[in-house]
Amino acid sequence: MIPSTTAMPSAPLVALLPGKSKLFYARHPWVFPNAVAPISAPISNGAIVQLVSHTGHFVGWGLYNAQSRIRIRIHSWDRENPPGPALWRHRIQTAANLRRDLGLMNPDGACRLINSEGDLFSGLVVDRFGGWLVAQISSLGISQNIDTILDILEEETKPEGIIRRQDNEMARLEGFDPIDALARGKAPPERLLFQEHGLTFGVNLLEGQKTGYYLDQRDNRILAASLAKGRTILDAFTYAGGFALRAAAAGAQSVVAIDQSQSALDIAALNAEANGFSNKITFHKAEVFDDLSARVSRGERYGLVIVDPPKFARAKNRVEEAMRGYRRLIALALRLTEPEGRVAICSCTGSVSREMLENLIGQVAAEERRDARILHAAGAAPDHPIAMSCPESGYLKFFLLAVS
Ligand code: SAH
Repeated sequence: MIPSTTAMPSAPLVALLPGKSKLFYARHPWVFPNAVAPISAPISNGAIVQLVSHTGHFVGWGLYNAQSRIRIRIHSWDRENPPGPALWRHRIQTAANLRRDLGLMNPDGACRLINSEGDLFSGLVVDRFGGWLVAQISSLGISQNIDTILDILEEETKPEGIIRRQDNEMARLEGFDPIDALARGKAPPERLLFQEHGLTFGVNLLEGQKTGYYLDQRDNRILAASLAKGRTILDAFTYAGGFALRAAAAGAQSVVAIDQSQSALDIAALNAEANGFSNKITFHKAEVFDDLSARVSRGERYGLVIVDPPKFARAKNRVEEAMRGYRRLIALALRLTEPEGRVAICSCTGSVSREMLENLIGQVAAEERRDARILHAAGAAPDHPIAMSCPESGYLKFFLLAVS
């Protein structure tokens, strides 16, 4: 049992530079090095620190990491509640209550239980698939405290087991060892089954991409599929077949689903089979840009084209490169769309804003001499809350278009 109260840590103080406090009083959780005054004594990476203004006023409690691009991740703006077991328990309870209110705690369903900044828990994502939890760590401070956090998660949510994972690139940047392992309870089945809006999906929680499955697109799959009836569908970047299966379930005439990863296609094919859609969906292993270009050359057209690529840029200075990728992809998608067709364009690149993507779609449509109209502009499902103090936590953009 974890004690519910902790002694106030005698945490080192870190002062902000003059004129740099406003953003953090406004509760942005990421403190970059250029906002911080030089520190007088060394602070160990991962340590809890107290952030103060240049005049010494309390701003918040955070986890320090001199190696990271984010020097301090603020976890609390309440002087009485520093990071520690009591705060983490409160955060976990609050997050679980929200998912309960959203009706997403069905035992055989799946949802994002903790959404990092969106649940005031910078550096930690937890997805629930049926009885299992997958914790994805993305900060050194969280990795150093993960045993305590997982103990509390286990007590509060009583899962069958908890798997620990991370984005390996983030682990390298933050300076912690990547570990993909069962951390609590019993191992999940190799193919864990869960329900998403009445369809059955199976995922491998230890080896699948990210936490095993992309829960953020749950409701966007429904939106796209609402226009699938009777149409031919092209689902580019299908992964586990999320959009493809949903379109098949909605009465699509046929579905072509593309991914370059054989393990993704294997998962997707089993998912199609589990729902009785094997004869409706054709899976194709290919690099999407090449494959779509070849389809354009062959004169293929589809009634609904869905493109859901991976993140194109991690760093801000790669934005232009990402925009070039989106430009090409949008052009290919439009060329493959029949007159009066439908197109779903997704982007999970945080540094490409909603406005940037919307403007780009408009520009490319004009260049391609097509009329594009937005039917739905959406983001991630509500179990992926966006902290209004941290617009960067709203990374997912989804546009569903009618294209003449
Ligand atoms: N649409 C999916 C999620 C897609 S994730 C869903 O609804 O769940 C992105 C996928 O694109 C991954 O499966 C990855 O293997 C695949 N991928 C990444 N780059 C690719 C490329 N250049 N060509 C083909 N597939 C690619």
